[in-house]
Amino acid sequence: MNGIMRAVSCIDGYDPDALRVDKALEAIRACLAPVTETETVAIRDSLGRVLAQEIVPRIDVPGHDNSAMDGYAVRGADLSASGDVFLKMTGSAFAGKLFTGEVRPGECVRVMTGAVMPQGADTVVVQEVCRAEGDRIAMPAGQKAGQNVRAAGEDLKAGVPVLRPGQPVRAADLGLFASLGIAEVRVKRRLRVAFFSTGDELASIGTPLAQGQVYDSNRYTLHGMLSGLGVEIIDMGVVRDDLRQLEAAFCAAAAKADAIITTGGVSVGEADFVKQLMAKLGEVLFWKIAMRPGRPMAFGRIACGDDAAFLFGLPGNPVAVMVTFHQLVRQALLALGGRTDDLDIPLLKAVSATAIRKVPGRTEYQRGVLFEHDGSWKVRTTGQQGSGVLRSMSEANCYIVLEHERGKVDAGETVSVQLMAALA
Ligand code: AMP
Ligand code: MG
Repeated sequence: MNGIMRAVSCIDGYDPDALRVDKALEAIRACLAPVTETETVAIRDSLGRVLAQEIVPRIDVPGHDNSAMDGYAVRGADLSASGDVFLKMTGSAFAGKLFTGEVRPGECVRVMTGAVMPQGADTVVVQEVCRAEGDRIAMPAGQKAGQNVRAAGEDLKAGVPVLRPGQPVRAADLGLFASLGIAEVRVKRRLRVAFFSTGDELASIGTPLAQGQVYDSNRYTLHGMLSGLGVEIIDMGVVRDDLRQLEAAFCAAAAKADAIITTGGVSVGEADFVKQLMAKLGEVLFWKIAMRPGRPMAFGRIACGDDAAFLFGLPGNPVAVMVTFHQLVRQALLALGGRTDDLDIPLLKAVSATAIRKVPGRTEYQRGVLFEHDGSWKVRTTGQQGSGVLRSMSEANCYIVLEHERGKVDAGETVSVQLMAALA
């Protein structure tokens, strides 16, 4: 197995000891092998899944020209640019109830919204502007031929593809399937993601904290972040910094999952168990990424016998876990799950309300609060930005992304932000 090394070595400017975020993303992307298996599910169950087929309508939606308003269906040619025109009402049509006759010159038919346009009529005059005198209806001047009619196929056209394989199914798509009469769709099988925390200092919630211990919070933030991605989540608990236990955990994870996420044990000065073991089990790259927070990270593919899985070894610090997940792992998991649409998180512009310290040479992801002030978007940091201060993530509604080359920011300068809400 040396596919990973080969793939990344082709990347221009690849430097494992000072890896730019964009290069890390490029390196990861070059190595991924997406899920290929598919399954057929009822459309409700396809929400959040990755479509594995093209959707080509077999019917037009709507199936017929129909009225967009309550009013009268008329022949546009009968209308006048000046003065009222009187037309004789010869019947009515409702949504789901056809008018079977024809609208001839000088005639009109009462129509409700959604009613199929009667033959001969091409225009609807809304009821509010008309005046009825028995069965004679006065149409005011100034109506436009063709108005208030929805054309057959204006939403979906038979034979014209609407959804592509590799895109996620969203709420609107469920309705779209239903409007085409489609009951089941083919989707990629869910990506299986296993994760565990490493560290002798970690206690699980529900047990008392001994001196020097911290509760394991990373597994919970990971659970939360993975939940938004539509993957199958396999929580494997806390694993001690012990070679045998770690090896067993990696092999159990590789047997169950397509991807494994670990936290802790990749930083310099750690007891080197985790790194040693990762290196022993497969082809794993150890990176120092030019980003803050979140410098150390491992990426690769490990195998135990026939069971292989991609590996993302994240740092231990709670904020670094979230930032590396959001900026590097999220996209990778979505791509592994079969997504082929644009996975970049949009960068928006806002005015920094405060000065921000920053040195060129790394990308920083400061936690920010985006707010509106005097008609424009402003952003401030959440305060203390230490990578152990998880509260900064909790309070933030955005990341302030300070680009690699950028130096300090003065108050009033424009910065880029990413909305947390866009990260699911
Ligand atoms: P490490 O990367 O293992 O050196 O960990 C860096 C810091 O993050 C240390 O202060 C750890 O105690 C803390 N940490 C590591 N793993 C976790 C975890 N699962 N939950 C909370 N804090 C953690
Ligand atoms: Mg540790």
